[in-house]
Amino acid sequence: MTTVFHDSSSDGIIELTASVVELLASFRQIRWREVERGGLLFANPDYVDRVVIDAASPPHPDDRATRNSLSLNHDRCIAEIRRANQDGRWFVGYWHTHPEKCPRISLSDRVSLDDNLRAGGHQLSALLAVLVGTDQGADGFSAYVIRDDSCQKLREQLEAEQRTGEPF
Ligand SMILES: [Zn+2]
Repeated sequence: MTTVFHDSSSDGIIELTASVVELLASFRQIRWREVERGGLLFANPDYVDRVVIDAASPPHPDDRATRNSLSLNHDRCIAEIRRANQDGRWFVGYWHTHPEKCPRISLSDRVSLDDNLRAGGHQLSALLAVLVGTDQGADGFSAYVIRDDSCQKLREQLEAEQRTGEPF
């Protein structure tokens, strides 16, 4: 099932396709021994009315992680962004897991996302962060947009809301 978030500050819609949701959910930190894992998110520019994230990279063996922290390998990020650009996709942000039911962004997440936004090597004015908690339902995913000095939690749209406006 696709997961859709609404960004009220830009009135934008951000959609994770079913295959991306499935990939991310497969790395949930269900067992107590499992460490945080994550990867990159890529959008398909063919959609003009919304940001459609139809590709995500899986965890990489060179990432450094504990149960409560994660540092993605820099070289793999650069290589994946390059490859995605060649495929015609745009890097839009990161996903990672948390060992909590309804994941909330942490201070260290904020710090590293702010660093990434500033340092970059990209032209982004905002970064998307998708967090994957242990809850198997809609509460298990949360999304934030990080801009200059701000971090906004996005509201998840329920299925019924997604249906309104569609032709019957
Ligand atoms: Zn985190």
